Amino acid sequence: MARAATATISLEAIRHNYSLAKSVAPDQGALAIIKANAYGHGAVEVAKALSDIADGFGVACIEEAIELREAGIKLPILLLEGFFSADELDYISRENLWCAVHSLAQIDIIAAAKIDTPIKIWLKMDSGMHRLGVAPDDYQEAYQRLNDLTQVKEVVLMTHFSSADEPDLAVTAEQIALFDKVTQGIEADVSLANSAGTMAYPEARRSWQRPGIMLYGATPFAMPQEVADKLKPAMTLSSEVIAVRDLEPGEAVGYSCTWVCDKPTRVGTVAMGYADGYPRYAKSGTPVLVNGQKSQIIGRVSMDMLAVDLTDIPDAEVGSYVEFWGDNLAASEIATYCDTIPYTLFTGITRRVHKKYI
Ligand SMILES: *Cc1c(COP(=O)(O)O)cnc(C)c1O
Repeated sequence: MARAATATISLEAIRHNYSLAKSVAPDQGALAIIKANAYGHGAVEVAKALSDIADGFGVACIEEAIELREAGIKLPILLLEGFFSADELDYISRENLWCAVHSLAQIDIIAAAKIDTPIKIWLKMDSGMHRLGVAPDDYQEAYQRLNDLTQVKEVVLMTHFSSADEPDLAVTAEQIALFDKVTQGIEADVSLANSAGTMAYPEARRSWQRPGIMLYGATPFAMPQEVADKLKPAMTLSSEVIAVRDLEPGEAVGYSCTWVCDKPTRVGTVAMGYADGYPRYAKSGTPVLVNGQKSQIIGRVSMDMLAVDLTDIPDAEVGSYVEFWGDNLAASEIATYCDTIPYTLFTGITRRVHKKYI
């Protein structure tokens, strides 16, 4: 038998979550964001599973778009970071990729390019995240320049939120107000919302939503949220117990002896480590399910293995099923034990983990 470390991916859950994103803004479009190999879920598999219901896809860069086109995906694909060099424009135009433009320098490059089929551009404004985007003061002029170019078919107006996962803050409302002020008078499609924007901000739901993390069934919010409650987790990360031992009080578990038993303890060693993508930052006490019963990891996570406490799970033995996150254990909850967010848990899953689609 092979090593049991497995990410089981429910394409049905991803379809459900995409439909949920659509249902909050049914008359508008939604690009399924499948950058970074669909947040670790497999970009081609996810794109194929959504092909008959999605309006299009979003990826970070042309390499990710090429992978999808070569797999036969025909729907529009938006390059969220735009192009990095002029030589990408030929493929972008030929393969009907949509392309973010985030700087005035990129407009110069498009203006100088020989392009056969005009490109649909998503002009990004920096409305406060200060990562990518044209400054508000330059935005109207950038729009007019692009709109006048024969190389450009259409311009969509776009920005990105820095703090939509924190609905108690005023930041998102301020970003929307600035965006609306700057774009006044322009007749064009608009795209503002990531998952958190789509889920929690009715005023952010414009022509195109850009849901990412919600497709994979994880909530971006730290608190319960109406739409989040209806998400279905897409990835279940699991493995098996490969060794069991009984330790006495005072005996230690794992590298650097960070965990010392304070009572007689039955310890299970599980084939899952940081080289599989289970974070080394997971603290002792991070929940796991062994044979469906709640337990916890103890000691440091090693490269290929970690330890779990089996003291209160007497039927656990070599071969017992261990779930790290998934249907019964929310990735967002596990993330809090690792000082991170579910995004890094999903994207961190490595090649060594067997992917199983259901
Ligand atoms: C990644 C990304 C998204 C999706 O964000 P989620 O928080 O995963 O929903 C949307 N828009 C842009 C520009 C992105 O880079």
